[in-house]
Amino acid sequence: MNFDPTEGQLRWRDLARDFARTEIAPRAAQLDREQKFPYDIVAEMARLGLMGLTLPEEYGGSGGDFVGYNLALEEISRADTSVGITMEAHISLGCAPLAAYGTPEQKERYLAPCASGESLWAFGLTEENAGTDAGGTETTAEIEGGEWVVNGSKKWITNGGTDITAGVTAIARTGLRENGKPELTAIILPQSTPGFSRGPGYEKLGWRASDQRQLYFEGCRVPEENTLGERGRGFSQFLQTLDAGRVAVGALSVGLAQACLDEALSRAKERHQFGRAIAEFQAIQFKLADMAMEVEIARNMVLKAAWMKDQGRPFGREASMAKVFASETAKRAADQAVQIWGGEGFMEGSAVARYWRQVKINEIGEGTSEINRQIIARSLLTESPEEVKTKLTAQ
Ligand SMILES: Cc1cc2nc3c(=O)[nH]c(=O)nc-3n(C[C@H](O)[C@H](O)[C@H](O)COP(=O)(O)OP(=O)(O)OC[C@H]3O[C@@H](n4cnc5c(N)ncnc54)[C@H](O)[C@@H]3O)c2cc1C
Repeated sequence: MNFDPTEGQLRWRDLARDFARTEIAPRAAQLDREQKFPYDIVAEMARLGLMGLTLPEEYGGSGGDFVGYNLALEEISRADTSVGITMEAHISLGCAPLAAYGTPEQKERYLAPCASGESLWAFGLTEENAGTDAGGTETTAEIEGGEWVVNGSKKWITNGGTDITAGVTAIARTGLRENGKPELTAIILPQSTPGFSRGPGYEKLGWRASDQRQLYFEGCRVPEENTLGERGRGFSQFLQTLDAGRVAVGALSVGLAQACLDEALSRAKERHQFGRAIAEFQAIQFKLADMAMEVEIARNMVLKAAWMKDQGRPFGREASMAKVFASETAKRAADQAVQIWGGEGFMEGSAVARYWRQVKINEIGEGTSEINRQIIARSLLTESPEEVKTKLTAQ
């Protein structure tokens, strides 16, 4: 077994690490305070190829693999998880479905301007009455004279309303299946479509320098050719999209957990009580050791799931495991980092207070921990114990 990343993967990690340390980390607190989308940072990340890391070179992307992408995401999130989610949502949620299911014409028209990161693309699944249960989708699309007419709204759509957002792939109800369940179809909606509007940004606990909006579609007309993939395949498309997204949210969580460990370590060495550094107390050492162990496990889980995707193997269960474990690791790490910082950690000016606020969303976005645990349990229950054992130990 080889745990060494390839040269190409290390190049992405180091590029992201250098940029994140010098250009993002020094501004993270201010970006969070001012809740401003960092256009200049995103433009520079696009120039470096980070905003199109896994997207096909043919359409202007960087053609990197999924492991390299997750290594890079970890580094960006370690500096600022808000910038991390902007990159992740653009690549994994916005562009990856266009690359996977788009026709050559759709890729030329919609993916090409976004694969370089010059423009952003968003993914619109969630609605007021369709959160975990996407079957509750109320946005409708009907064919009229060779065009889709889309009506409805979406909620909390990341990158949905920046000045450089080119459009969204929206999941809409396009009919009923024979089994009585809704037929869901993915439809490409450029931002410039008449009837497409967006709400103001939200006041949030974390990811405050990233963009989330409510999107409204009032009689939006787009050609029938704007169907992404086959009509009625929207459900299976977003399940696959979310599998990959979950690995990436795992990477964002590992980055944040590592940032908590970084801050906890430096404070433990600097802060003196009872005439010595608090790092000399075993109670503090054990906290640091537990944080380091969990970060190590979470990172390995994320990279294993990413590697399985790169190998073309099924990775859905590993994606859910990585997301749940990494997001919960990050939450515990943020909690312990504040504890080690003591009262200073409770002050808004401290980085660990910011991490403590930011960390919660990782247990919610792209499938809650409850749903991911169900996916894991279901996969165990539908396979024979032998199959499960072989997969868990030999992959
Ligand atoms: C900052 C942010 C960014 C987001 N970005 C996007 C985006 O870009 N695109 C997009 O489409 N969506 C986006 N979302 C939506 C996100 O994916 C949803 O919030 C998430 O899927 C959960 O849905 P919900 O919040 O409506 O929770 P609900 O579905 O209302 O769930 C509430 C609680 O009930 C539990 N629950 C629900 N059903 C079950 C069940 N069957 N069994 C056990 N427990 C259950 C959940 O686990 C959760 O704990 C974003 C959300 C936020 C907050």
